[in-house]
Amino acid sequence: MMKTGFKRAVIKIGSNVLAGKDGMLDTSVMSGIVDQTVRLRKAGIEVILVSSGAVASGKSIVRCDRKLDSVSARQLYSSVGQARLINMYYELFERHGIVCGQVLTTKESLSTRDHYLNQQNCMNVMLENGVIPIINENDTISVTELMFTDNDELSGMVASMMDAGSLIILSNVDGIYNGHPSDPGASVIREIRRGDDVSGFIGTEKSSFGRGGMLTKYRIASKVADEGIEVVIANGRKAGILPGILLGETDVCCTRFLPAAKPISHVKKWIAHSDGFAKGCIHVNDGALQALTGDKASSLLPVGVTAVDGDFEKGDIVRIMAPDGTVVGVGKISSDSVRARESIGLKGRRPLIHYDYLYID
Ligand code: GLU
Repeated sequence: MMKTGFKRAVIKIGSNVLAGKDGMLDTSVMSGIVDQTVRLRKAGIEVILVSSGAVASGKSIVRCDRKLDSVSARQLYSSVGQARLINMYYELFERHGIVCGQVLTTKESLSTRDHYLNQQNCMNVMLENGVIPIINENDTISVTELMFTDNDELSGMVASMMDAGSLIILSNVDGIYNGHPSDPGASVIREIRRGDDVSGFIGTEKSSFGRGGMLTKYRIASKVADEGIEVVIANGRKAGILPGILLGETDVCCTRFLPAAKPISHVKKWIAHSDGFAKGCIHVNDGALQALTGDKASSLLPVGVTAVDGDFEKGDIVRIMAPDGTVVGVGKISSDSVRARESIGLKGRRPLIHYDYLYID
C-alpha cells in the first residue's frame, strides 16, 4: 500500500553503495537503484538524487604516475569520475524513457538567499519538466574550507530547500546500531524520536571511499527531522530498499528519524543550514538564552547582548553564542556590526534578529 504524506523524496547515495571493492562503479547496484527510482516515480513520488561516487570512480579509471596532493587528486579523479557517473545514470534512466540531468553545486552557491533561490529554481524547473535531478558537489572547484563536510550535509540542505517529505540516506550498513555493527549482539535502532541522543553508540570511522561517516549522518538526520522532514538511514545495497521504505511494500530494517510535527518556514530552513556562512557572533546573557531556548517564540533583543564579534552587514548570517561559549543557533541580522555593537545592552530597541529569521539548534 502506498504510504501517504509526502510527494517528494531526496535520496542520497553514498560512494560505498555505488563502488565495488576496486572503486569501480557497480553497474548492477546502480541499475537496481535506477529501477527502484523509476518505480517510485510511477507511484507518484518526485525523486531527487544526491549521488556520490565521482572521486571513487575516477580513482579506478585514472592511473597517475606521480603522487598528487589531496586537492589535485580530488580534482583529477572527480573530473573523470563525475563524467563516468552521470553517463551511467543517463543511460540507465534512458532505458526507462526517463531523462535525468546533472546539478553540480558548491557550498558557496548556496551562501546567500539569492543563490539559494536560484539553485532551488533550477531543481524545480527540472522536476516540472519530468527531469530527475542528480546532484553532486562540484569537487573540481570546491576545494577550500568552504566545502560541504560531505554529501550527507549536501543532501540535508537539498531536502530542506526542496521541501521534501523524506530524506533517505543510503550507505552500506542497515542503519545506526546500538553497538559496533560487527558485534553480533548489536542491533539496528529502528526509530529515533526527537530528543533521543544515540550519539554515544556511534563510532567515528569514516567511509572507505567517501568523506562521510555515521556521525555526520546522525547529526544531519537529526537536524533535518527537526525541520519536519522524515529521515531514514538504510542499506543501499539491499534489493528493493527504496520501495520498501517509501511505499511500505516490505518491512525494511533501517533507522527512521521521526519528524517534528510542526514544519518550520522556508526562510528558517535556509537559515538552519547556513551556519557555515556566518560572518560574526552575537554573545548573549543568561536571560536572553533562556528566552531564546524557551517554548515561546522570542526575537533577539539588544538588551540581552553582551558582545558582538566580527564585521558584518545587515542581512548577513551570524551565530548566537551562549555565555559558556557554545553555539545556540544562527540568524539573519537586521543591522550591521557597527550598529549592533552600539546597541549592546540597550533597552527598548528593535530586535537584532527577528524570530522569523532565527534558528535555534
Ligand atoms: N562528492 C564526492 C564524490 O562524488 C563524495 C563526497 C562524500 O563522500 O560525501 O566522490
